[in-house]
Amino acid sequence: MTAQQASKSVTLDRIDPDAPMFDPKAFRLSKEQAGIIASARELGQSVFAARAAGYDRDAKFPTENYQDLHQAGLLGIAIPKKHGGLGADYKTYSLAAAEIGRYCGATALTWNMHVCSTLWSGPLADDLDMDATTRAEHERRRAVHYKRIVDTGAVYSQPFSEGGAAAAGGVAFGTEAKPVKGGWIVNGKKIFASLAGHADYYGVLCTEVAAGERPSRRNTLYLGIEAKTSGISVVGDWDPLGMRGTVSRTLLFKDVFVPHDAALMPRGVYFQAAMRWPHMFLTLSPTYIGLAQGAYDFTVRYLRGEMPGTPPVKRRMYPTKQIAVAQMQIKLEQTKAIWFQAITEAGANPTKEQVLRAYAAQYSAMEGANEIATLAIRTCGGQAMLKSLPLERIYRDSRCGSLMLPWTAELCLDRIGREALYETSESDD
Ligand SMILES: Cc1cc2nc3c(=O)[nH]c(=O)nc-3n(C[C@H](O)[C@H](O)[C@H](O)COP(=O)(O)OP(=O)(O)OC[C@H]3O[C@@H](n4cnc5c(N)ncnc54)[C@H](O)[C@@H]3O)c2cc1C
Repeated sequence: MTAQQASKSVTLDRIDPDAPMFDPKAFRLSKEQAGIIASARELGQSVFAARAAGYDRDAKFPTENYQDLHQAGLLGIAIPKKHGGLGADYKTYSLAAAEIGRYCGATALTWNMHVCSTLWSGPLADDLDMDATTRAEHERRRAVHYKRIVDTGAVYSQPFSEGGAAAAGGVAFGTEAKPVKGGWIVNGKKIFASLAGHADYYGVLCTEVAAGERPSRRNTLYLGIEAKTSGISVVGDWDPLGMRGTVSRTLLFKDVFVPHDAALMPRGVYFQAAMRWPHMFLTLSPTYIGLAQGAYDFTVRYLRGEMPGTPPVKRRMYPTKQIAVAQMQIKLEQTKAIWFQAITEAGANPTKEQVLRAYAAQYSAMEGANEIATLAIRTCGGQAMLKSLPLERIYRDSRCGSLMLPWTAELCLDRIGREALYETSESDD
């Protein structure tokens, strides 16, 4: 074959900065998976991208985006089909969320909080042990939550951070649920509660503590508490560096009565999930994979002189720009590759190697997104970081990823280092 023939046989397609992040054929996705992911991408590209700057500027919750997500059936993405949802598995959800994150980080991150209430109570809970009576009770209860979401577009959030060691998984949650007739009385405080004041239900992690008992992580409850229940208040302001549209204010619970049917998981099942299904904590990463892609897409478009709203000045001919784009592309491919592998092997009882890979994927996504956004700003230059363009927002949003508990970048490093060097129960004492 001549050199000319060879170059003809591997012609590259046109550069399309809005092509699927994970090509369905190359990544062996089914038609159904590709369809769900495409609907998220199309919504992100055609509607959410243009709204993102306003939500960010005003630190305003993306209410309109949630109406669109409901219309598209995406609020029920992980709800089993028999309950009226799209029946997406963990991987399909993650890929769809990355596509949303590419266009609006705050929408993707808050959508993750919402979807987790259905993913954890749905496909994830199906993998866990429950006796037949508990399983039947769970099935009846989750149907109530799912119906609200599918029929009326109810939005759930996921406040578990408290400012202490609980969100890192170290100790029992300080928010307590005291058993009473018909349910529980909940008292406590949640910080950084994304969707505070905007969700219809707060998916609260708390500790069931009966009279005379000591709080234990084993007794963690996961309750979907109606936002307008008496005793709940949203306090404090919200003016952060990035992810401003998440509106992550503080939630207070003062003697809030919660009926038994509010349980999103049966007693003891959250603890079992945290032990046996650790990839449940990787669900914050898709947003940041999307942001990494968004920074890269921006750079290619900008250097080609094709960024809407900017003069058609090309900057691609400088070798330094080409090297920087090459570095970004390599980092992006590395990050996407480990992440795709980790979301593919998510499931119950992963091997130690898979768990270490999940930590590494989380670290790579959270730190990688910001590294790529940093390179994008340096490479594109001053005009590219003006607030009229999305890059500086991507940069600020991406900085927040490594702070998300329980798998912050620091904790991932801690765990990888320790678990790679010690077997369970080994010590040097
Ligand atoms: C935009 C945004 C949205 C958020 N949305 C939500 C939400 O919807 N729901 C929710 O529950 N939380 C949410 N969070 C909170 C987030 O998950 C963390 O809980 C929060 O950022 C922790 O802040 P902190 O200052 O209390 O951290 P600290 O607990 O003070 O920790 C500071 C750092 O120390 C390290 N660290 C913490 N504990 C340990 C430990 N045991 N061992 C070693 N190192 C440790 C970690 O690296 C951590 O980043 C959100 C945060 C942000 C920034």
